[in-house]
Amino acid sequence: MTVMPRPSILSVEPYVGGESKVPGVNRVIKLSSNEGAFGPPPGAIRAIAEAAKEAHRYPDGGATALREAIGARFGLDPARIVCGNGSDELLALLILAYGGEGTELVMSAHGFMMYDLTGRWAGCRVIKVPEKNLTADVDGMLAAIGPRTRLVFLANPNNPTGSILPQSEVERLRAGLRDDILLVLDSAYAEYVTRPDYDPGVKLVDAAPNTVMCRTFSKIFGMGGMRLGWCYAPPAIVDVLGRVRGPFNVNAAAMAAGIAALAEPDWVEKSVAHNSEWRGKVAEALTAAGLKVWPSEGNFLLVDFGTPERAKAADAHLRARGLIVRAMGGYGLGQALRVTIGTAEENTLVIEALTAFARGG
Ligand SMILES: *Cc1c(COP(=O)(O)O)cnc(C)c1O
Repeated sequence: MTVMPRPSILSVEPYVGGESKVPGVNRVIKLSSNEGAFGPPPGAIRAIAEAAKEAHRYPDGGATALREAIGARFGLDPARIVCGNGSDELLALLILAYGGEGTELVMSAHGFMMYDLTGRWAGCRVIKVPEKNLTADVDGMLAAIGPRTRLVFLANPNNPTGSILPQSEVERLRAGLRDDILLVLDSAYAEYVTRPDYDPGVKLVDAAPNTVMCRTFSKIFGMGGMRLGWCYAPPAIVDVLGRVRGPFNVNAAAMAAGIAALAEPDWVEKSVAHNSEWRGKVAEALTAAGLKVWPSEGNFLLVDFGTPERAKAADAHLRARGLIVRAMGGYGLGQALRVTIGTAEENTLVIEALTAFARGG
């Protein structure tokens, strides 16, 4: 006999993040984790250095200054914001608090992988609903709801497909769910969206006590290494998260960096303009080279090579040139690669390499 975890835990493979090294290649360009093209905001780098001087002090467990800064920036009540060690932590806490053994979690087939991994180890039955055109299908998701469903997850825009549901469809999803089902809207890429009808989730959170919006500093704010996310939630859910989170779940450097990132002049505007421009250019160039590129509202593109073999060959071709993108086999999209939009120079290298690949074989 030996010590054993709960059986559901061994049903899950450890999460494999985007790679950052290629053996034998000195200079690599990492376009595998949607980390934002410009690195961390300069003010955040200074704030992290400054925070180091106080590293012996415990951080503010209530994240008060950070919640106030987020509230001021997005026009939200700070009392209804909860910060986390990345939004992944908040997604997991919501699953543990509202799901678990005997419950079902509904997500779309190519939704963000953490819902599946965390849902399964928490003991939920995870139901993946087929998509239409790599886009979440509201009717299908509603049809998948059963008496044990407690959680529905929707990333909007979705990673890795880049697809988005119009606000009317998100509202139709919420309206079709029972009141005892928590809808989690994961808006990790909200800042990149330029569609005028887009709402990241605030309207639905304000409208009823059973919707939560999750956000992150890992993408447009370029701070994945700091681990900082937040959610906007109804008061009763804020109360629950306050019970289950660690007392110091967000570290002092991350909080200082988050406040500084929000204050960085023109950061979001500059990043969105760069992303929209280059996402368009890369998509256009790869399409012209004969590749299928799925429409994307995020800072990445899903490029379809037709077969898993051809996607693997393209991946090898990119790697040999030091370009690391994300293989999609784990998402059931082995025929595709996900390419993060990087700097102008990085994007140009991707265009050149994939154009040569498409022409040559
Ligand atoms: C990157 C990502 C996250 C995780 O963000 P962290 O704050 O770094 O944990 C969550 N959801 C989606 C859809 C993402 O792409």
